[in-house]
Amino acid sequence: MNGQVTKERMNIQLWRPSALDEAYSLLQQLAPDVCAASGSTLLQLQWDKGILPKQHLVSLEWIDEMRGISVSDTHVSIGALATLSECRKNSLIKSAISCFSVAASAVASPAIRSQATIGGNIASKIGDLIPLLLVLDAELIVYQKELIRLPIGAWLVDGDFETAIVTRVIVPRAEGERVFYRKLGRRQAFTGAVAVAAGRFLKDGGIRLAAGHADITPERLLDSEAKWKASGWDPHELYKTLIHELPFSADAFMSAAYRKKAAANVIMAELMAEGGE
Ligand SMILES: Cc1cc2nc3c(=O)[nH]c(=O)nc-3n(C[C@H](O)[C@H](O)[C@H](O)COP(=O)(O)OP(=O)(O)OC[C@H]3O[C@@H](n4cnc5c(N)ncnc54)[C@H](O)[C@@H]3O)c2cc1C
Repeated sequence: MNGQVTKERMNIQLWRPSALDEAYSLLQQLAPDVCAASGSTLLQLQWDKGILPKQHLVSLEWIDEMRGISVSDTHVSIGALATLSECRKNSLIKSAISCFSVAASAVASPAIRSQATIGGNIASKIGDLIPLLLVLDAELIVYQKELIRLPIGAWLVDGDFETAIVTRVIVPRAEGERVFYRKLGRRQAFTGAVAVAAGRFLKDGGIRLAAGHADITPERLLDSEAKWKASGWDPHELYKTLIHELPFSADAFMSAAYRKKAAANVIMAELMAEGGE
């Protein structure tokens, strides 16, 4: 194995493998006292709060296979090590999935975005970009002894991939479909988002909806999607379903009910703008 100890600081050993299989082996061998690191921005927050007592860090930053952004007729393939700044500025992403570059602009601050990666945002399972990726039907290519491609929604809930390395995200081009992404928050206060909501109006008349916020794993809103599809769309019924279904929790700053109301209101505004039937 070529994985090597490159420095020791604060009793944390940093490993820098250059291949996926090496990184995966290290993560397996050193478990449970280890975690993967990409931009380390979220890890830094956890260190600051004293909630990451791991002794080993396996940096993924030397793994070339996890880099690069390419576009085909049907999708955009983004290496997990792409920073959020790159996602925001990359011309291929801007032209093929402009909603994604706009959403990346709403994460953290410019300094954080220049380090934070899309892989880390997804792998954290609480990242603000996840609701958008859910409504776009994005897929992940993860490494777990072999490369496996699966929908992001399946990966989020499937415990079998807890130790997998996220290597790429494959985002279908949503051409001709209106997509919305709304992040509600008090960014100047540097608190997590009140709520993040995303939606996509499909060509066949259906809809994708998803929502989340800083402390929870985002989810598709399947019951609300079904209400939209039903003939004779009833705004009151759909609003009630949203309030019931939004998977939100309270924190020290706001109640779950407040978050739900805020998210339901922005989603309803988008639905009303679209018209419905
Ligand atoms: C001041 C500040 C503000 C922030 N604001 C926001 C915000 O508005 N919205 C938001 O979503 N986030 C925010 N964050 C959190 C963070 O910056 C982002 O989520 C970022 O995208 C995480 O990426 P990273 O590369 O830094 O991940 P890291 O910190 O390196 O890793 C995050 C987690 O994912 C794991 N991991 C990393 N890469 C991989 C991989 N490829 N495969 C498997 N596991 C992996 C790590 O083990 C760790 O558990 C903020 C952070 C800070 C410090």
